[in-house]
Amino acid sequence: MIAMASLEMSYLQEGVAVLQGKMEDLPLLLAENLTQRGGTLYPRHEVKKIIVTGGKAIGVQIKGGQTATARAVISNADATTTFLQMIGEDSLPPGWSKRLKGMRPSFSYFITYLGVEGQPALSCSNNEVFPQYDLEQEYRSLAAGEIPAASSYYLLAPSLVNPSHAPQGYSTLCLSYKAPYHLTGGWDEGAKKTLVEQLLSQAADMLPDLRRRVVVQVSSTPLTIERMTGNRWGAAYGWAQIPRQAGLYRLSRVAPIAGLYLAGHWTAPGGGVAAAMASGEITAELIGNRLREEQ
Ligand SMILES: Cc1cc2nc3c(=O)[nH]c(=O)nc-3n(C[C@H](O)[C@H](O)[C@H](O)COP(=O)(O)OP(=O)(O)OC[C@H]3O[C@@H](n4cnc5c(N)ncnc54)[C@H](O)[C@@H]3O)c2cc1C
Repeated sequence: MIAMASLEMSYLQEGVAVLQGKMEDLPLLLAENLTQRGGTLYPRHEVKKIIVTGGKAIGVQIKGGQTATARAVISNADATTTFLQMIGEDSLPPGWSKRLKGMRPSFSYFITYLGVEGQPALSCSNNEVFPQYDLEQEYRSLAAGEIPAASSYYLLAPSLVNPSHAPQGYSTLCLSYKAPYHLTGGWDEGAKKTLVEQLLSQAADMLPDLRRRVVVQVSSTPLTIERMTGNRWGAAYGWAQIPRQAGLYRLSRVAPIAGLYLAGHWTAPGGGVAAAMASGEITAELIGNRLREEQ
């Protein structure tokens, strides 16, 4: 909670950092760097199994059966999938699968992406709007599968930062709620329509003529995010950032199987792009040190 509060307060003090260009430029840049250093990237190759022999992770098997061996295996995929499906309960130390099953993924998002006529009259691109102060009640509602009418929401205007997002004369907006995977009543078309209406009504406080300017509108739910990322329940930030899953209590970057490491938001320090990158850097250093010692 203290970490999240510090993060939110840093926004007020230093402003919000956004990537120059598009978000996907970041992984593309990392991929380019890997290739320049002699690495080979296999996009669109789904790992099905982590090969464990003699209690040691020695490689991966991808969909279709092809295998690759390695001196170290790193997973930033969903932690439950990594341990329970890619490895399997039988190869895990006692108590490990029970621990995983008792952990709680973070909330996801319901997002509506809009293409609108003209430029939105906003003073900044990233707006987090809190219509009321009782955030604990909001989180209790989310945990109960509800998104209350006066929920906090995001109003982002990507084309204000990157005009190439939209054709000339138009702009892009994203409206989103934190959302539970297990929405009461399920994620059907009716639920999506209600939430879009709710978001548009709330956003009208900041952009009164928004509705009549919308020319394109597409929505995504936690189910979409789960399908796109493989993250269980569409978790936006890995494990929920609650005391019993934060700091020392988050899954360690060194997995309980020799040769297997974690990176990303399911391990420490936690959720978010900067934290996921920091975990990757620390994991890479750990492995580098180990490999140098073994030489
Ligand atoms: C809607 C939304 C908005 C967000 N906004 C922000 C924000 O404003 N600021 C911020 O800091 N954070 C934000 N986050 C959180 C941030 O995006 C994540 O915490 C971060 O991307 C986690 O990085 P990662 O590498 O751990 O996991 P991911 O980004 O989920 O990457 C995991 C990768 O593994 C791949 N994968 C999964 N399973 C397999 C498999 N079996 N085989 C091969 N590949 C596999 C996936 O395709 C994916 O590419 C947001 C998240 C969401 C969903």
